[in-house]
Amino acid sequence: MSDSDDKKTLGLRSGPRSGQVKQSFSHGRTKNVVVETKRKRVVVPKPGAAKSGGSGAAGSAGNPSRRPAGISDSEMERRLKALQAAKAREADDAQQRQDEEKRREEDRQRRRDEAEAKEREQREIEEAARRKAEEEERKQREAEEARKRPAAPAAAPAPSPADAQAAQPESGKPAPRKTDRERDARDDRPARNAKAKDDSRRSGKLTVSQALTGGEGGRHRSMAAMKRKQERMRQKAMGGADAREKVVRDVQVPETIVVQELANRMAVRAADVVKSLMQMGMMVTQNQPIDADTAELLVEEFGHKVVRVSDSDVEQVIDSVEDRPEDLKPRPPVITIMGHVDHGKTSLLDAIRNAKVVAGEAGGITQHIGAYQVKTDGGALLTFLDTPGHAAFTSMRARGAQVTDIVVLVVAADDAVMPQTIEAINHAKAAGVPMIVAINKCDKPEANPTKVRTDLLQHSVVVEAMSGEVQDVEVSAKSGQGLDELLEAIALQAEILELHANPTRAAQGAVIEAQLDVGRGPVATVLIQNGTLHQGDIFVVGEQWGKVRALINDKGERVKEAGPSVPVEVLGLNGTPEAGDVLNVVDTEAQAREIAEYREQAAKNKRAAAGAATTLDQLLAKAKEDKNVAELPILMKADVQGSAEAIVQAMEKIGNDEVRVRILHAGVGAITETDVGLAEASGAPIVGFNVRANAPARSAANQKGVEIRYYSVIYDLVDDIKAAASGLLSAEIRETFIGYAKIKEVFKVSHVGKVAGCLVTEGVARRSAGVRLLRDDVVIHEGTLKTLKRFKDEVAEVQSGQECGMAFENYDDIRPGDVIEIFERQEIERTLD
Ligand code: GDP
Ligand code: MG
Repeated sequence: MSDSDDKKTLGLRSGPRSGQVKQSFSHGRTKNVVVETKRKRVVVPKPGAAKSGGSGAAGSAGNPSRRPAGISDSEMERRLKALQAAKAREADDAQQRQDEEKRREEDRQRRRDEAEAKEREQREIEEAARRKAEEEERKQREAEEARKRPAAPAAAPAPSPADAQAAQPESGKPAPRKTDRERDARDDRPARNAKAKDDSRRSGKLTVSQALTGGEGGRHRSMAAMKRKQERMRQKAMGGADAREKVVRDVQVPETIVVQELANRMAVRAADVVKSLMQMGMMVTQNQPIDADTAELLVEEFGHKVVRVSDSDVEQVIDSVEDRPEDLKPRPPVITIMGHVDHGKTSLLDAIRNAKVVAGEAGGITQHIGAYQVKTDGGALLTFLDTPGHAAFTSMRARGAQVTDIVVLVVAADDAVMPQTIEAINHAKAAGVPMIVAINKCDKPEANPTKVRTDLLQHSVVVEAMSGEVQDVEVSAKSGQGLDELLEAIALQAEILELHANPTRAAQGAVIEAQLDVGRGPVATVLIQNGTLHQGDIFVVGEQWGKVRALINDKGERVKEAGPSVPVEVLGLNGTPEAGDVLNVVDTEAQAREIAEYREQAAKNKRAAAGAATTLDQLLAKAKEDKNVAELPILMKADVQGSAEAIVQAMEKIGNDEVRVRILHAGVGAITETDVGLAEASGAPIVGFNVRANAPARSAANQKGVEIRYYSVIYDLVDDIKAAASGLLSAEIRETFIGYAKIKEVFKVSHVGKVAGCLVTEGVARRSAGVRLLRDDVVIHEGTLKTLKRFKDEVAEVQSGQECGMAFENYDDIRPGDVIEIFERQEIERTLD
């Protein structure tokens, strides 16, 4: 309000002084306007001082006019004439100004009248509310007195008048806190109103005057603000009346709730809730969550009824009806192929699918989870999952998604049972999933299938050939030998399992892979486990939800629906779920959103709890326990969730009595400045798997001396970390980046396909080097160049700053804005395990 005092004086002064107009608005905003016109006037004013008084301060022209007056009469005369002319002009000006001001004043008057009318209305409403409240209180008191009087006739009269008077300004005993607040609001309102009125009256002469001279914006704003204020007041008054009639709401309180949301549910202001919390000794903001017990106290304090709900209540809308036996139909088995690296998992999957995938893959290692269906000669449909390793299998299981029905254990006949073979056996056993042994590479002369069988015995896997239960098949992914037998063995095993599902119910599935696709948004590969997923279905998946925009099958075709055991890509999610998340179809978007939000909140709380436990308990315990154990902190970013999990699990296994790997953070997407900051703080290196640091992150890393290593083969990465953990890491880098090029345009050239018109931005582009295509700092393709052209000529090298044309071997999905990374691999010696 002190603001308005300033305003007032300025406003008044500016009235008679035509030199300057200080415009005042509500909320203490002021505006100084007429300066330009004034300056013209000020040139003349000294003689015209009658009007503008001592306002000459601004006029540098005021001085010259005074000086000649003192010196020469003739000159003075001439000047006086000029002055008169000027005065005449000024009179005109003044007239104009007066008109303007009159208009402004009228305007203002109108506005003030309006405002006052509103306020009057307002006051009436309040008055009514107050009267009503008072009456009620009086009645209540009278009733009480009546009751008390016979018991304590002497004491009774005393409290009653006190109460009557105190009821307004002080704390009325019967009224809960809410009424206090409201009364406060009411009490200071008249005062504010009076002042506001004062203001408007005072400033009325000038404020609105700006209507035509550029006060437009301010006027509108102040009008809106005024309206808002009125509205607020009215609401408050209404709310007051409401509360008197005691609307008791049923307030749903979940396990945790954000203050703002709780306030919404009680229909009170968040600030009030925060205030109450403070009085309870809890310092929270309206965006922070509070637990159910605190929320319950608050709700009671505000006079409402608590209805406790839990997460599971929200999830009850998910269809969990038991399938009737007659609805159950046989479904295809879902098969995961596991085994040691290089024993031929990908080759086998490939051979089964009759497609060539190995050639296109970096390092020949399966990187991303995929899935596809094949039909055996016998007509059985089989669904194969192509996982990036056992880690994904376990982590999916850890999330409660048991997707695999049968494990095919691949063991190379020219090798033996290896560590990862044993791992796979353990995983399958832990999951209670039956196993079929595929003894691969039987085409090789040195193949020794019998050795594999006896080796397996040591791990209590007794194959049929050793008169056990586990089916074993000799195969060759290369020659195709035994593949049909393998498929038949799988079909047989599936028959034994009697796999059934109900295709008619609402779909349920598991995410086997999810990623944020640049063009299509979040995409999840979902294996339908029960029911049928249709286009247009509304679903919740983990902490995300969505509406099926499109379904794409394993052959890349759009389909309208997907039944049990069918893998499909689902488009139309609001966010990227994680591998292993369960998808459920629900009825409405509201349900889906609510469930997703609850899950997100629950997960957040769980993470917070886990984080706290790590810092406090675990760290202390660790420090106490193993003083000698060194930790190798690492920050890891990968292109997709599946890879990230596989890497995390592989790294967590690294370590011995002296060294351990600690993953500070594992995430999906480009390496950012935040990552670099975290790494620096912990003295950790950053490893990027098929992702790159963005430009700011790169420069930050250079500045802070944070090491970033890039990998495109999981096992290279794990090996390096292993080496680093044992202090053996060689300084050599496996790959050297020799250049970067940015794609500016993409051309279609017949017989060649798509050609990228590029600018080499760093280093050189070399025809013989390896290339990667980066989109948003994520590697989306790795391969070699088909052509490197400078103008029309095929060249071996293109230097930085020059333009060139590039095309990839066997790859066409290039877009302007993509970056091509040119690198060379170095042969480095690898130590044997
Ligand atoms: P993964 O790491 O288990 O996926 O193994 P890959 O499928 O990448 O195969 C590793 C290597 O073994 C590749 O060079 C394949 O060509 C080779 N390979 C796979 N299966 C066979 C096979 O049946 N016979 C022969 N001779 N080589 C095979
Ligand atoms: Mg592979």
